[in-house]
Amino acid sequence: MSSVTVEIVYRGIFQKNLAQRIARGIVLAARKEGKVGISFGRYGDSPERNGIPAKQFAIVAEDDLELQISMARYEPTEVDISIAVDDTLCKGVESWAWYGTQPINKLLHAGGLLLVTSIHATETLLQWIHRRPYEYDIAIVKGPASFSGLWVYREDHTEVRVLGTLARVAPQLFGLHAMEQAILQEWNDNLKVVSAKKAYERATARRVMPEEGNPAPVEEYEKPKYWEMQEGIVVKAIPVGKGFRGGEGGFQPERNPYFKKFTTRTMRPVVDFDTCVKCTLCWLQCPDSCFDITPEHLYDANMEACCGCGVCEAVCPVEHCITMVNETAFPDNASQYEGWKQDPQAYQAWLQEKITQEKPVAQRAHGFRYRGQYAEQIAAMQKEEDA
Ligand code: SF4
Ligand code: SF4
Repeated sequence: MSSVTVEIVYRGIFQKNLAQRIARGIVLAARKEGKVGISFGRYGDSPERNGIPAKQFAIVAEDDLELQISMARYEPTEVDISIAVDDTLCKGVESWAWYGTQPINKLLHAGGLLLVTSIHATETLLQWIHRRPYEYDIAIVKGPASFSGLWVYREDHTEVRVLGTLARVAPQLFGLHAMEQAILQEWNDNLKVVSAKKAYERATARRVMPEEGNPAPVEEYEKPKYWEMQEGIVVKAIPVGKGFRGGEGGFQPERNPYFKKFTTRTMRPVVDFDTCVKCTLCWLQCPDSCFDITPEHLYDANMEACCGCGVCEAVCPVEHCITMVNETAFPDNASQYEGWKQDPQAYQAWLQEKITQEKPVAQRAHGFRYRGQYAEQIAAMQKEEDA
């Protein structure tokens, strides 16, 4: 080993504390084995905002010289391990300056390791994770994405489960004993050690072949040419808008083509056009002007613009007319209205499936509600394994 570079991709603000804890835990555990290391953050967006993908890095090296060589780069352009602490990030991430949605494994080199926190199976995740022209490994830390680090950290042990998994599938970073010592030093909590060891025992990695993964091309972008740039700072106004899909009826606002917000989203609204009473509240209250008004005055949430805040669900006066559903339930950003228009019955069946079967998946871990809850969880998992 010369040095090992780890990136932790997380949802800005919601998972900031979690990502910092993982990065710090990695360095502490490596230090217990006499290695050196450093962890540092970098905004995916500045200032960091809700849901926008952001990154923490941890670099571990055999000695100071190796570490300094790695640190001399402002930001790693290649990593040995990528950790995604929310599986919706597997669909791709948008950086602070729009240059197209980028694959979650973009910086991962051949033979590297992608570790994802998810309740889904590897095969499901590979439907979203972009294809790479080489082999790499993937490991899953079973569990919902943890949003328990918002403002005040509420325990759900996700950080130590990630550390436990790393000890098993990336032993070049640190081993089990060092990890245990680091956890006790940092958190002085035996229950966390139990969680980490459990994750260690359960961890497996499997090889991803070049022909596996999402074959969709990565979004292209074009940088402005120098001769196209104007003197001074020019902020162009967005035109008012036009009819629905450019036609006569309805209304579709113009949107900034360089600021698509869908990678911010962990959930999306699903609209029941059959029960909509056309009250306009979703359209009025959406903070991102996401709704396109159809010629018959229905409201179609534009999935390239929606950041998944949930305001429309909250204001809609009709029960179950708008339902927020986990982003992992959808393969693309297709228009729901167009699906409904094509075949209302098939759309209704699709909608019911999404809001009844996929809705429970929307739950995210927000920390333990009472002391001993995680111990119960461990016992339940053990029972399940023994059965
Ligand atoms: S969730 Fe609803 S209110 Fe929020 S951005 Fe999306 S469409 Fe607009
Ligand atoms: S808030 Fe609900 S009922 Fe009102 S227009 Fe929007 S979808 Fe229809």
